[in-house]
Amino acid sequence: MSIAVIETIAELRTVTADARSAARRVALVPTMGALHDGHLALVRRAREVADVVIVSIFVNPLQFGPSEDLDRYPRTLPDDLARLEDLGVEAVFAPSALEIYPDGPAGTRVSAGPVGALFEGRSRPGHFDGVLTVVSKLLNIAQPHVVLFGQKDAQQVFLVSRMIADLNFPVGVEVVPIVRESDGLALSSRNRFLDAREKVAALRLSVALEAAESSADRGLDAVLAAAQSVLMGESLVELDYLSVVHPATFLPVDDTHQGRALVLVAARVGTTRLIDNMLIFLQSNRS
Ligand code: AMP
Repeated sequence: MSIAVIETIAELRTVTADARSAARRVALVPTMGALHDGHLALVRRAREVADVVIVSIFVNPLQFGPSEDLDRYPRTLPDDLARLEDLGVEAVFAPSALEIYPDGPAGTRVSAGPVGALFEGRSRPGHFDGVLTVVSKLLNIAQPHVVLFGQKDAQQVFLVSRMIADLNFPVGVEVVPIVRESDGLALSSRNRFLDAREKVAALRLSVALEAAESSADRGLDAVLAAAQSVLMGESLVELDYLSVVHPATFLPVDDTHQGRALVLVAARVGTTRLIDNMLIFLQSNRS
């Protein structure tokens, strides 16, 4: 059976309202399409925690800067629908930009605050305000019981979770671990832009994170040095940032920090910008 594709807010509201009044739990999986196994892991998890799964596919213009890849971003709706086949998805919400922003870019925006200006936000000004604005709209439209995000976009998970708490959205958040290729490369819709040489170079990101993890018992400086040496050894990798942050604040830790920490990396490989991260257990090297 083919999946229903819903293009209007009104129709999606009807579908989810009907589900709620039948006491069925609704899950929303927000995506920008070009679906891969990482997205499908979110959908499978959604199926485990809810009765009705809605996947949204919307390339949100608000989260792309003027010099970014909005036009180049892959749009593959027929393939996406085929991939979702047999996963028990109730409907795909694939609205036009006009349906979501009828008056042009939203006049009202959700501010991601100071953490929204760090890391991804520093390289992509306004990105997280755009993400939080569209996620708020999708939550208000679909009113799901649970919304699912991937740990691949760690800063997004942090900021969306904080927004949901700060603004009292009545929705649970479910975070799904990063899905990787067998060689370690984190799956991303942008990986399709990598040629064969770049794909090999892109492996440095996950290798650097593994090196960081292996050095975690020797402290912060050792972690950063280990990851840096892996990244520096490949001329096709242009490092944007490498940082170790506290999972609870998303702020950089210092060398007195002990315990869970998140290693973040972002780099340009050729013309493609990639991000990755790994949770480590850091020992302090200060006695
Ligand atoms: P996107 O279509 O890139 O906006 O991603 C939609 C959702 O899929 C986000 O919550 C991402 O974090 C998640 N996602 C993307 N890639 C992966 C991956 N490799 N593993 C797990 N989740 C992912």
